[in-house]
Amino acid sequence: MKRIAVLTSGGDAPGMNAAIRAVVRTGLDMGWQVFGVQNGYAGLGDDNMVELNARDVAGIIQRGGTMLGSARCAAFRTEEGRKLALSNLIKHDIEGLVVIGGNGSQTGAYEISKLGFPVVGIASTIDNDLFGSEITIGVDTALNIALEAIDRLKVTASSHHRAFLVEVMGRDCGYLALVAGITGGAEAIAIPEIETNPEELAAELRHAYERGKAHALIVVAEGARYNAEALTNYFKAHSERLGFELRATQLGHVQRGGAPGAFDRLLATRLGAAATQQLALGNTGVLVGLQKSVITKTPLDVVVSSKKPLDTSLFELARILAK
Ligand code: ATP
Repeated sequence: MKRIAVLTSGGDAPGMNAAIRAVVRTGLDMGWQVFGVQNGYAGLGDDNMVELNARDVAGIIQRGGTMLGSARCAAFRTEEGRKLALSNLIKHDIEGLVVIGGNGSQTGAYEISKLGFPVVGIASTIDNDLFGSEITIGVDTALNIALEAIDRLKVTASSHHRAFLVEVMGRDCGYLALVAGITGGAEAIAIPEIETNPEELAAELRHAYERGKAHALIVVAEGARYNAEALTNYFKAHSERLGFELRATQLGHVQRGGAPGAFDRLLATRLGAAATQQLALGNTGVLVGLQKSVITKTPLDVVVSSKKPLDTSLFELARILAK
């Protein structure tokens, strides 16, 4: 009988629980024992793992967050920390590890696989910046939460003829802002990948008013050079000349905590099942993800050394649709 462990790491994402559930139940179906590591890589170092049976993962598919807890663990970035983690896995006769998380977490997974331990990663981050999966667990739900907020803000913006700005997550990747902007009908979008000129943004908003729009909405990524703070300050400093001010709303962690929608539950379930299958087949040191509607595996060294390109043609589309 094989003993495997599963952990969630980095930022929590809606659907992580569904992935844990799938790993546990498909593992049990193979006749394995499955252990849950608490608080990501920190739990590996602290030797904090518990056996999970089918009932332990009952009632979690609809819950956001992660039942295992997550953490940012500085010790795991050191060789000493990783060796301690490895010794704890070996102590418990664990033969395979599933790591559910984003870029940093999969870099950690790659580091353990380099020590010779069988690891399979599951693509999960609301940022959607992970190479090897066109869409990652949590993105769809986070987008829907952002959209709900945007739709509500547009109602009040229209009533008061105001310019609104909504900042969504995305330190290095503008995917959330781009898609929330397009699907929320924003007049302008600012993302880290494309240089933003605040004067041009102001002109776009002014033109929107001139075309008879009752409101103007900008969606920005937190990592954009002109994020909520920078843009609000700029508009404040030049308010007389620009003619209006911006009301900013930062959605922040509100985007993370929602109940996963059907898309994320299904994606997480498929990826969780695929990860245990890869462990069974001995295909380790890989990330399971979704590409062209098919579950794929990509070597972790490729995942961590590649940057996922953003389809910037969507940016142009957003510009056209804002007319
Ligand atoms: P998100 O995209 O949602 O923020 P993430 O997985 O990218 O998730 P990080 O905080 O970057 O989140 O990484 C999570 C954890 O992975 C870190 O706290 C650390 O323990 C581990 N990790 C990150 N980078 C490395 C690295 N270079 N080597 C070893 N471990 C790492």
